Amino acid sequence: MIAANIMKAHDYEEVSILQNKKARLLAINVIHDTTRGPAVGGIRFMKYKSEDEAIYDALNLARSMTYKTAAAGLSCGGGKTVIMDVEEMDRVLALKTVARFIESLNGRRFTGRDLGISLEDLEIMRTETQWVADESAAGVGDLSEATACGVYHAMRACLEEVSGTDSFKGKKVAVQGVGEVGFWVAKYAVEAGARVVVADVNPGALARTVEDLKVEAVSPDQIYEVDCDVFSPCALGGVLNSGTIPRLRCKIVAGSANNVLGNEQDGNSLYGRGIVYAPDYIANAGAVIQWWFRQTAYPVMDKRDGREVIANIYLVVKEILRRSREKQQPPARVADQYAENQLKPEKTYRDMNWGM
Ligand code: NAD
Repeated sequence: MIAANIMKAHDYEEVSILQNKKARLLAINVIHDTTRGPAVGGIRFMKYKSEDEAIYDALNLARSMTYKTAAAGLSCGGGKTVIMDVEEMDRVLALKTVARFIESLNGRRFTGRDLGISLEDLEIMRTETQWVADESAAGVGDLSEATACGVYHAMRACLEEVSGTDSFKGKKVAVQGVGEVGFWVAKYAVEAGARVVVADVNPGALARTVEDLKVEAVSPDQIYEVDCDVFSPCALGGVLNSGTIPRLRCKIVAGSANNVLGNEQDGNSLYGRGIVYAPDYIANAGAVIQWWFRQTAYPVMDKRDGREVIANIYLVVKEILRRSREKQQPPARVADQYAENQLKPEKTYRDMNWGM
């Protein structure tokens, strides 16, 4: 019932609960919006405390995929599948069951990997459906670099807003988390001429970055208080909250972490402190853009190079910041309106076969 209320409030198209007792499978497939094209979004395989928790996760993730793809101007929508990880599951049968369901949607849903799903899992699913990405050609590192590239362009737009130029020369960038994406963000910033400070809870990741890029390191706790131009959260979601926002000494927040704001109020707090924010799902869309343009399952009408679309993140963030200034509203809120406007003109519940 609560899920139905969320569906109504945020205009979801479809929520399905899949069961295969023999496999011990319980999965939730959500199609949030197919206005612009197939509902794109990976499959998440993880432990949940309850079915409700899994449903909410799938609902939230599917909706954020719609916003991410719409804001990036891609001809696809948003969806998500979550599989509840339980003891003694027959993983192969479970994956095949989900795959058969995806196949039955005839291209309304197109999926790939998310947390807990390996390339081997996708191969198993591909025996049952054509609507699962062949990611073997698209290396993981490659997609992380694409995400970092988008973050770099988002930073350029923010720097221009704050200082009138997108130059990184003489600027200081603090990167929280130097894993797959954060390392590349630090590299982009160094190569653009910035001084970079990094932090990571993983000593190995930190050492590699300090050695390769010759950057300074601080402790994971100190990173919030680095006096800098850009704070770049590239670790976890929810790190900007009532406890950390007052500690920030930056002019800009632009990073890759998903759902980096604890809640809507935190977006208001950043705005209230005069910190320019590049909304997370716009800044971190590089991987999904790169991924989408590589797919061969759909005839992608847009013939641009994926890298051009990633570079366009600069223009999208500039536009969000312009509207934020004009409306005197936080960028996080303006970004949602921007994404919703990409859907409004043609909300029609398409159910045709994309690409067929
Ligand atoms: P990752 O796991 O490779 O890197 C995260 C790094 O953050 C790790 O090195 C980890 O040790 C570090 N970390 C964790 N907690 C920390 C803390 N408290 N302080 C400092 N460092 C901490 O993940 P990733 O693929 O680089 O993704 C980073 C973020 O970007 C995630 O939130 C992810 O959801 C988001 N994202 C990633 C992509 C992508 O292409 N990989 C795309 C969109 C969004």
